[in-house]
Amino acid sequence: MRGAPKKVIKSRWEKIGFSLLKLINPSDWNLSFRFIVIPAIIILLMVLLIWAFFSRSMSHLTREHLTQRLELTGVWLDSQISEKFRLVEFQSARLSEDQNLVNLFNEQDQTGTYSYLRSGLDPVKQTQGFSSLDICVYLDPEEFSPGAGWNCPVRDRILRPFLEQAWTVRETGHEKYVDSYGLSRIMVFPVLDRMETVGVFAVRLGLGPLAASLDRPRGTTLALVVHNEYHSNLAPWLVQTGFGSWTAYDSRHGSVNLPSKDLSIDNHISLEKNQSFLLHSYLNSQGQPVGGVVVGLDHSLITSHNQAYTRYLTLIVLTLGLAVILTLYINLVKVKNFLSKLKRMIIASHSNDFSDRFETDPIHCLDVMSCHNEECPVYENPSLVCYLETGSEAISPEWRDTCIFLNKYESCSACPVYALKKGDELDEMRNVINTMMRLWSIFLDRSGRLLSQVLRSEGSTYHVPSLDDVATRMEQMAKLTTFSHDIRGVYQKEEVYEQLENVFQEVFKIDHYILFEVNQSQNRMTPVVESHPESSLCKTDVLISPEICRAKRMSEEVSSANNPALCPHFNCDHSRYVRYCIPLVMGGQVGTVFSFLVPRSEWHWRREQVIILRKYMEETAPILTTLRLLDLTREQSLRDPLTHCQNRRFLDEFIKQYEPLSIREEKTIGFLMADLDYFKQVNDQYGHQAGDAMLKQVVSIIRDGIRSSDLLIRYGGEEFLILLPQVEPGMSEAVAEKIRVLVEQFNFETIAGITIKKTISLGVAEFPHDADTMYKAIKFSDVALYEAKKTGRNRVVRFKKEMWTTEEY
Ligand code: GH3
Ligand code: MG
Ligand code: MG
Repeated sequence: MRGAPKKVIKSRWEKIGFSLLKLINPSDWNLSFRFIVIPAIIILLMVLLIWAFFSRSMSHLTREHLTQRLELTGVWLDSQISEKFRLVEFQSARLSEDQNLVNLFNEQDQTGTYSYLRSGLDPVKQTQGFSSLDICVYLDPEEFSPGAGWNCPVRDRILRPFLEQAWTVRETGHEKYVDSYGLSRIMVFPVLDRMETVGVFAVRLGLGPLAASLDRPRGTTLALVVHNEYHSNLAPWLVQTGFGSWTAYDSRHGSVNLPSKDLSIDNHISLEKNQSFLLHSYLNSQGQPVGGVVVGLDHSLITSHNQAYTRYLTLIVLTLGLAVILTLYINLVKVKNFLSKLKRMIIASHSNDFSDRFETDPIHCLDVMSCHNEECPVYENPSLVCYLETGSEAISPEWRDTCIFLNKYESCSACPVYALKKGDELDEMRNVINTMMRLWSIFLDRSGRLLSQVLRSEGSTYHVPSLDDVATRMEQMAKLTTFSHDIRGVYQKEEVYEQLENVFQEVFKIDHYILFEVNQSQNRMTPVVESHPESSLCKTDVLISPEICRAKRMSEEVSSANNPALCPHFNCDHSRYVRYCIPLVMGGQVGTVFSFLVPRSEWHWRREQVIILRKYMEETAPILTTLRLLDLTREQSLRDPLTHCQNRRFLDEFIKQYEPLSIREEKTIGFLMADLDYFKQVNDQYGHQAGDAMLKQVVSIIRDGIRSSDLLIRYGGEEFLILLPQVEPGMSEAVAEKIRVLVEQFNFETIAGITIKKTISLGVAEFPHDADTMYKAIKFSDVALYEAKKTGRNRVVRFKKEMWTTEEY
């Protein structure tokens, strides 16, 4: 029952959904998607990941590095400042206990007191590099109001409670009062004479003058800041700018960038885009922050370096990825080419009716039907169906197990299968491989052995063939198989020569050639195919005396590539051409000689062709042998006069020539011994003449059932031997059966015009499977015939070992 598939019309949304499903289902991905798109996505993701990872880890490293550097700078700065404060404090405390100073205070000598203190503190100021160090001297508490006191520039109100406290500490002895206030460090010292306060002096060291004396690490800047609560104490022109709860004081070190956010004591480091900051703050005696130093570190160079590294790395990975994609693409193209060649090769090698039709019918559509007919060639080989199906525009794995019917439509879209088209390249590949596996054994039978021989004969140096090499070789083998198929069944040897000439011209592009036929009985070499008859490649002596042809005499190939003088009968310009002669041995003797010229400049690659060319020639050997023997038969009247079949003399001649060739080529030959059943009755009933007529009819029936290259021999009175050269092993029985059925179905007419039925029995044996010599195979086919007669006649019996018990043949 033939039924076209229903055409399924899908809506746009359904189509989109279907496409999305295809995209997420890996089995629906095609080759390009697998080999190009997926790797491209993976590489892109890798690039993104690398970029993200490196830029993150780079900035992390940079942060770590900057934090460490700033922290170290902070520690170093703190130790420097503390040390300087400590020195001033120590010297001042020492002076407060100096008896000379006590005396000067007792004498109420303000100028002397001041000078004495200066001379004591100035060395510290100079060695430490302070730009200023203030000293205030008080002889009387009356002077404690801000701005009063001898030579005192300190007008801060904060000083007064310190001074008052210092004046009243006589019970506790020497005491100092130290505190930070804004940007200043203030130290107040009482001067005692026998537990009696005689005066007070204050020393003030500003962070500004101190900062000027600090050694700054390279790449850093310093800025002084005061807490906002104290900035009112600063002169307005000194106030520069502020951030958060801090106000910057003119550091006199040029313009300094300040952090954008408030820096508390806990979070005293700020890492910003191009600059990072550290705030080193000072607390007063109540633990409140009053002032500090901001260290700025410029890291724009480090950041830009890191960014550049990340960029380069990303670029390198991207380039490598592109190279990978490009390589994949090139290989994919190669694989696709290889597959398409493979497809063509499989079609060429599988010569059944279906693929023949497919080949000769390029514009076609496929109609699909559910076939359960076991005799259908398509039913037998579902993978071939798929493959052939993919060769058309209709690719549909769901129709895989159905039968396909070739049909012509005017356009593909009219074909019902077209609607089910799917571009599944992976399935296509799988089909090709499946088909290849199934057909491999058949293909190997025809050309595989030749291929392995060719590969073996290519020299001892081990060479790994590329995909292209293999594809080219496969293609050559496929052509060779087609050639071998085409020459089988030709009727005259001239046809074989014609086919060979076509191969010389079309496959090998040889312009100058000559093919000789060697006639052993007449001792002649005759040119049968020639490219330039007017200027023959060989001197005419060769035609008369074949023995002077080196290739014929030695039965070996002759090449002028290395030695132009090898054969003196060459007729060619050796400086421009290489001459090559291939003799072809048939039945133990040279049967043909093929001689050709190739330009010397092309010899390096043409020499490879010789291997394949030789194979083509060898393919013709068995056919030419048979055909030439047939000619011989004609010549020598080796025929039976009644039926015109070959006779036993011919059989002897044939076996002599053909047996060694078949053994070497490992060919299977079928022997069918046929004998009419109860033939004597025909003679008895209708006379000998009727019997003779029947024998002629039987011969014509048998000829219809065999190929023209098969041999039909009248073996005995009404016994015929049918010889099947190059039969597929095991197939002889089928041929015999075909003959049996044809005879059984035939209506024989006797002279009296009466129609009678006759049957035939056949015995079958195969060489070399059943017997190691051809005569033995003939004997065994006779034994099998005897068995057929014994077991009821009108039968085909294949010889079995048990049928022959005699030890000696
Ligand atoms: P079966 O083979 O089935 O055992 O029986 P059959 O009657 O065919 O027996 P058999 O093969 O032994 O007989 C051969 C007969 O064929 C003998 C002979 O009369 C006849 N015969 C042989 N050669 C010729 C021939 O050239 N012409 C005619 N008319 N008859 C022939
Ligand atoms: Mg008989
Ligand atoms: Mg007989």
